[in-house]
This record gives sequence, structure tokens and C-alpha cells, in this order.
Amino acid sequence: MTPGRPVPPPLARPVLPNDDSVAAHPATDLDTVPDTGVLAAAYGAASADSGLAPRTLARRAPKADDVEIAIEFCGLCHSDVHATRGEWGSQKYPLVPGHEIVGTVSRVGSAVTDFILGDRVGVGCMVDSCRECESCLDGLEQYCENGLIGTYGAKDPRNGDAITQGGYSSAVVVDRRYVVRVPGNLDPAAVAPLLCAGVTTFSPLRHFDVAEGDVVGVVGLGGLGHMAVKLAKAMGARVVVFTTSEGKVPAALELGADEVILSRDKDAMAAADRTIDLIIDTVAAPHDLNPFFRTLRVDGALFQLGLPSDAMPPVNPGALIRRRIAYAGSLIGGIAETQEMLDFCAEHNVVADIELVRADQLNEAYDRMVAGDVKYRFVLDTSTLQAPAEKADA
Ligand code: NAP
Ligand code: ZN
Ligand code: ZN
Repeated sequence: MTPGRPVPPPLARPVLPNDDSVAAHPATDLDTVPDTGVLAAAYGAASADSGLAPRTLARRAPKADDVEIAIEFCGLCHSDVHATRGEWGSQKYPLVPGHEIVGTVSRVGSAVTDFILGDRVGVGCMVDSCRECESCLDGLEQYCENGLIGTYGAKDPRNGDAITQGGYSSAVVVDRRYVVRVPGNLDPAAVAPLLCAGVTTFSPLRHFDVAEGDVVGVVGLGGLGHMAVKLAKAMGARVVVFTTSEGKVPAALELGADEVILSRDKDAMAAADRTIDLIIDTVAAPHDLNPFFRTLRVDGALFQLGLPSDAMPPVNPGALIRRRIAYAGSLIGGIAETQEMLDFCAEHNVVADIELVRADQLNEAYDRMVAGDVKYRFVLDTSTLQAPAEKADA
């Protein structure tokens, strides 16, 4: 690793603005191309304080480049809680959250040659972007200069400005360029969280080219944090977990952490002075970063991934300046990088630790997530959704 000096990783395959790459499978029978959309069972919120309740969505008929997916599993990300409860400001309702989607291909459009019926696939946090800007062309669609199209709650200009609706649902239709392939050797339910929590932590670890001999600190042992531990370990790093929860110490060690520090213990924090190369901070609430900067070595870096709704305490510039520390943020990962992460996980046998929930447990699961009572990711089993109504909700 070269701390503080990012080395972008090579991408597994180029981004596909107009990719007509060689089919991994034989072309699909055009007779199966549909002209009607499906009604999908879903769970969503009517307003910021409504909680989640059953809904019926109209999914569009697949267009030429579209893949229709029968969703099997969808992870519950803390971002879903922030968004559903309106904690990030203006939010369009009704809203069906969910951006850690795994399912099987149920129909494809006429131009889709790289997926066929029955393929197990995934969709993460975005379903489109401009496909033209420098970021998109570099495989960094998450930083699209014209705004990525989020998997839920986003206006979708290529589909009549419809508001996208996410994966707490029985089906979704997504352009093939934003669909990834799920490796066959991994448990599909436990793969779902990789589509956000996995790639969001993989991306900064790869950006800094983490390798054997590096020391990676992980702040916050939740959905993102536990993936950061597993991925950094798989990359060969020594991993130090910082947690506010005493009860998570044995679990963190079981996950593979080499050391666990209670971040509220000032003496333990002082003892960690100048021991860490890279910190991945996944905390979902405002917290003081200055004690963490003091654990970094010269040229260390702290990546903040959590996006609390309230302001953070100020960063002390002196803490950064005295050790040439980089304080950075990072947003999910690009599509090619998401595939690269899945392939890395297949090779290293990495998946999330999950607790499957039924649709009628979603509200309780949100409360438990906010209380930190999950090891480490809830995943919705979509077979527990009720049947869709005869027509879509307004
Ligand atoms: P999570 O499962 O709820 O984990 C968050 C962890 O933060 C908790 O387990 C807890 O760990 C720690 N924490 C400490 N104080 C807290 C407090 N007062 N309230 C809540 N958590 C506290 O959440 P997640 O799904 O991993 O997401 C973490 C954050 O990342 C969220 O803000 C989410 O919106 C954001 N996110 C960002 C991206 C991105 O692209 N940058 C992508 C996905 C999610 P300990 O008990 O170990 O202290
Ligand atoms: Zn997420
Ligand atoms: Zn773009």
C-alpha cells in the first residue's frame, strides 16, 4: 500500500456505455421478449413516519436492454433507514427501499445477450447514470457528473422520469449495464449485502491497494464494518476494530479482527497512537474523528463512509497536518468494481453474516438496526411478501 497516495485499481472489465461484448451465453429466444410489465409485491413507506407496509408496484415491460429479475433476497442497509425515515432531507414517497438485491433473471429484452433466464444476478445502489461523462467512462458511475440514478427514490429520465423503487419487492427491471453476476459458489442470501456493504468497503480498500503487512482500522461494527473486516483480512491486512459496544468484542475477534479497541476507552485509544495505516469509518451517527486521526501513522488515511443526518464535530486540521493524514470520503463502487468485488469474494469465500427476516418483520428490523442489535445484516426473504394486488398502488 502507498498510504495517502491513492493508486486506482485496474478494473475487471471496462464500463459498458454501449457494450456489445461477446455473449457469455447463447442469445435469448426473441419470442420470449415481453411487451407487458409485471405487478410486483413490495413493502414500502407512504411517508417519513408511516413505517413500512405492503404495496403493489407496476414494473415496466423490459425494453431491449433490460433484464427483469425475480428478486429472492434484499439486504437492509442503514441508508434504507435514513432514506425511508426522511433523515437525509427531501425524499419522494411512496418509497420502496432496498439496494442489496439478489435474484434470478425472469425475462430479458431483445438486445440482452449476456444474461439468460435463470441466471443469478445482483443489483446494487444504482440502476443507471449518464453513461457519457468522464466518471461513467472511467467505470466510476457512482460519481457520475450528471447524477447517478439510485435504485430507489430517484427520477429516472430514461424511463419517463418515473421514480425508481427498490428491492423490498418481488421483481425489478434494470438495464443490463447495471446488473452484475452472482458467483455460483456463494450463498445467494448472504451475497445480497455485498451489493452495497461489500462494495462500499471494498472500494476504498482497493483504492489504497491494501495488502499484506498493512494495518487497517475499522470503526463501527455493523453491516459495512463487518464486511470491511472480512475484506481487509482477505487482502492480507492486520485488522483493528474500534467499537462503542463492549458486547461486540468477542464477535469482532471471531470475525477475524486481530485486535478490538473500545473507542470510548481513552487509555486504549492512546495506546493505539501511530499504529494504523488506513481507517474505514462506517459509523452511522455523528462522532468525533480526532481521536481516530491520532491512531494513524504518517501518510495514513481515514475514509468516512457513514453519512449521519446530523453535523459531525469539527475536524482538527492540526491532527491532519502533523502526520500528512488524508481525510476522505467514498461512495459505493462502480459497476465493474462491484463485479470485481463479487469475484474476489467468490475466490476468498467471503459473504456477509446475515439474519433473514420476513416482510412483516421489516419495521422491527429497522428499530433493531438503529439500536445496533444485528449481527451484522438483516436480509429480507422476498418469498414472505404477500401476493401483489390486482392493480398497482398510486
Ligand atoms: P449499521 O449496520 O447500523 O452499522 C453502523 C455502526 O455504527 C453500528 O453498528 C455501531 O457500531 C456504530 N455506531 C456507533 N454509534 C452509533 C450510533 N449512535 N448510531 C448508530 N450507529 C452507531 O449501518 P451500515 O448499514 O453499516 O451503514 C453505516 C453508515 O454508512 C450509514 O450512515 C449508511 O447510510 C452509510 N452508508 C454509506 C455508503 C457509502 O457509499 N458511503 C454506503 C452504504 C451505507 P459499534 O456498535 O461497533 O460502535
Ligand atoms: Zn446501502
Ligand atoms: Zn455520468
